[in-house]
Amino acid sequence: MQLDDITKHSALNIGTLGHIDHGKTSLTRAITNTWTDRHSESIKRNMTIKLGYADAIIKKCEKCEGASAYTTLDKCTGCEGTPKPVMRISMLDAPGHETLMATAIAGSSVIDAILFVIAANEPAPMPQTREHLMIINILGIKNVIIVQTKIDIVGREAALAHEAQIRKFIKGSIIENAPIIPVMPNLGVNVDVVLEMIAKMQLPKRDLESDPIMYVVRSFDVNKPGADATKLSGGVIGCAVVKGRFKIGEEIEIRPGMRLGGKSKKETYEPIITIIKSMTNGTEQIEDAIPGGLIGISTEVDPTFTKTDGLVGNMVGHTGKLPAVISEFSMKYIKLKRDDIPEQHMQENEPLIMGMGTATVLGYVKKSKKDNLTIELKHPISAERGTKVAIMRNIGHRWRLTGYGQLGAQQGSK
Ligand code: ZN
Repeated sequence: MQLDDITKHSALNIGTLGHIDHGKTSLTRAITNTWTDRHSESIKRNMTIKLGYADAIIKKCEKCEGASAYTTLDKCTGCEGTPKPVMRISMLDAPGHETLMATAIAGSSVIDAILFVIAANEPAPMPQTREHLMIINILGIKNVIIVQTKIDIVGREAALAHEAQIRKFIKGSIIENAPIIPVMPNLGVNVDVVLEMIAKMQLPKRDLESDPIMYVVRSFDVNKPGADATKLSGGVIGCAVVKGRFKIGEEIEIRPGMRLGGKSKKETYEPIITIIKSMTNGTEQIEDAIPGGLIGISTEVDPTFTKTDGLVGNMVGHTGKLPAVISEFSMKYIKLKRDDIPEQHMQENEPLIMGMGTATVLGYVKKSKKDNLTIELKHPISAERGTKVAIMRNIGHRWRLTGYGQLGAQQGSK
């Protein structure tokens, strides 16, 4: 693949983990020159949150040396020359409820790399930081850069002692050799070092041959209020491709699709069939979409269904090729070893929050036998075999990550 092809077609999906006030959002902003705060209403509806995202292209100046040659700006900060694109990145970051966000990341199959933000003005690890390392271990992601923030508050010596604490904390984990980079996002200090490290990461091998599948991570109505009904544009969906390739003009199916009215206790949904009218990767129009990065797709769907993220958590594929819609499933539950949470047996009807795909969904324990769980979902979703499910329980009035599982053969379909 040509460099141009990579920057045009595929991006590295980067998730951020870290305490809400440890500087995640300013780091994302420093890297992409965008704010991602537009998602502050993230958990309003149906316990479904969205991955926020901001895209950028990492460029390298050919005249400058070392980390300072890397930037996401149009001009080299060193020599004012024009740097060349080397890698497209999509930063997935949602301020708002950080614990739920972390769960969404844990269930996600679209994260390639993680920036793990740890602030130096608190001892490491804080309880949540411990939880975040568990998530990294669940995902099995080795492309991790630890970003040490707030070093300007504590000074050099305390920062070094804090770095030693982090090293001790990650020892024995899958990221034991991860780089720890002190960064001051607001002053731009060492942001270029992080960019260089990201640019040198290997793009994961993408599956371009399978039947294509993508998740809806955002959805919009792009029409102005009161627009002429005969001139309305179809709904727009923001998606992350998991595998395969989507092309303009193709027919796609969105499942579970639109929720049908009616007073029956069980919710019913109808799949949506539509056409890909156009696609953009955020900066330009593209002809086809492959895994890596987030893609905006114009469809012919009635915008009433796509407005205000109405289709988030849906799965999209070629018509008739999608996995079953499930409203209940069983799986082996793998409990995380946590000494900070009391042992508690799963109760029947206990509510759970789960990260699955790119959706965070609410469910209830239907059966719990040894390490086997049967869970009933509040809203049905389309999910593939092998999808990771991160599980949070409400313990001491807080949602805590307690374990995870994987959708297996025994999943029920309807
Ligand atoms: Zn330069």
